[in-house]
Amino acid sequence: MTVAIYPGSFDPITNGHLDVIKRASSVFDKLIVGIYENPDKQLLFTIEERIAMVEEAIANLRNVCVKSYRGLTVEFIHKLKGTIMIRGLRANSDFEREFEMALMNKKLAPDIELVCLMTSSQYQFLSSSLLKEVAALGGRLEGMVPKYVAAALKKKLSTNPRVSARKSRG
Ligand code: ADP
Repeated sequence: MTVAIYPGSFDPITNGHLDVIKRASSVFDKLIVGIYENPDKQLLFTIEERIAMVEEAIANLRNVCVKSYRGLTVEFIHKLKGTIMIRGLRANSDFEREFEMALMNKKLAPDIELVCLMTSSQYQFLSSSLLKEVAALGGRLEGMVPKYVAAALKKKLSTNPRVSARKSRG
């Protein structure tokens, strides 16, 4: 059985992430969405909120589950007996960073293979950080996130005006 892990901050999950999840889950026996608890960036949502939003998004996918982790992604993958790391690639913006990370991860864990899925064209300019900026400015998020994520963004940004979307990149 091939176990693949899709790691990321998911702050919050977008339709671009969900597209990658669905496509990866049709290729591998089991897909685990790994939510990185403390990435090196300021977050808008707590780990519990990020988990809950991913759980709702994957509810209909029988071979997908979600787990959170701290520390090295490759160690998390080893713990779960995974052999594949999934990442999504958008035009231009992701390649350099993903390539650098891939080479480092290969040194740390040569047994883990990286599989990058190209974004679907309708999501290529969609990122969690841009989404938060649009949400903070009151823009419509239709087609970019599930409805409950749009509602959570609206609520978070209205109840906590000090949270600046610009500060919470990712
Ligand atoms: P990270 O902090 O690890 O970059 P993200 O939650 O921002 O976490 O992204 C997780 C993964 O999903 C990354 O590989 C990122 O490139 C990919 N990704 C993000 N948005 C999209 C999108 N719109 N289409 C395809 N892949 C995406």
